Amino acid sequence: VDINLVDAVDRQLILRGITAFNNGDRDMTHFHASQWDKCHRQIAYHYYYAKGYIDLDESSIKNTIDAKLERIFENGHNVHARWNRYFRNTNAILGCWRCVQCKKLIGDDLALGCLEPNKPCSCGCKEDYKYEEVGFFDEETMWGGHVDAILDIDLYRKYQKSFLLKIDDTDKEVETQNADKYLIVDLKSINPMQFNKLENPLPGHITQMQIYLYLSNLKYGKFIYEDKGSQSTKEYLVVRDEHMLAVKKEEAIWLKFVLTNDDKGVRRLPNRKYNSRSHRDCLRCKFRGDCWKDR
Ligand code: SF4
Repeated sequence: VDINLVDAVDRQLILRGITAFNNGDRDMTHFHASQWDKCHRQIAYHYYYAKGYIDLDESSIKNTIDAKLERIFENGHNVHARWNRYFRNTNAILGCWRCVQCKKLIGDDLALGCLEPNKPCSCGCKEDYKYEEVGFFDEETMWGGHVDAILDIDLYRKYQKSFLLKIDDTDKEVETQNADKYLIVDLKSINPMQFNKLENPLPGHITQMQIYLYLSNLKYGKFIYEDKGSQSTKEYLVVRDEHMLAVKKEEAIWLKFVLTNDDKGVRRLPNRKYNSRSHRDCLRCKFRGDCWKDR
């Protein structure tokens, strides 16, 4: 009777993580906004691996996949799904909408997606559409990715007013500034200690949002941080910053040049971001063995 229940589940999660990586579940042939302030050498490795230019041995993959981390990621996905439901109830979220029966996708041909269709799919399906995040790709920088949500600000306010909530002065000020109609939303679930200390969005997250604003051509973004322990929230407005984007864009164009200009078959790697192989990000990096082999 006294069998170890967690052990079997852990093995299941590790196997699932390995399979997902091997199947290329995350497209690494473009640059991800969420990775941009991290190690560009790692981005280069991922790119070469996804393109099939370099190999990776099974042990390097296994060593960085951990059951606890898989559970953390899954909790993060669940938080996103829950907030997606909240936003969907406002009727102000733009997205791509998939018919669960015939799988037709609506809104994917529009730059920012569209509001949820108010009529059933032409195939006759009676079920709700499935929401899919709006994706972007920019050829010049090779930046791409999907945003958690795009909200129509006017519709969101209409929904807010339907509860007869008092719109205070701060809201009025934001309304005046927000001349633009849409807002990118990015959700972050963070640990209680980080949450308590949080006074502004984290620097890497600001970069991520700026890249989303560049890709979507919008001016405003919002972060919602949710405490993993208490589910308390904090939200922050981010305004598009052209100066910051100019710097980040130059970095991306340079990295794209390095990775896509085959130097007589030599795969060039940018410098390491960290000074020690024991850095937290290096310990989780699948390319650690190759990266530090000469040091
Ligand atoms: S091991 Fe560390 S320095 Fe090397 S690519 Fe990975 S994250 Fe970057």
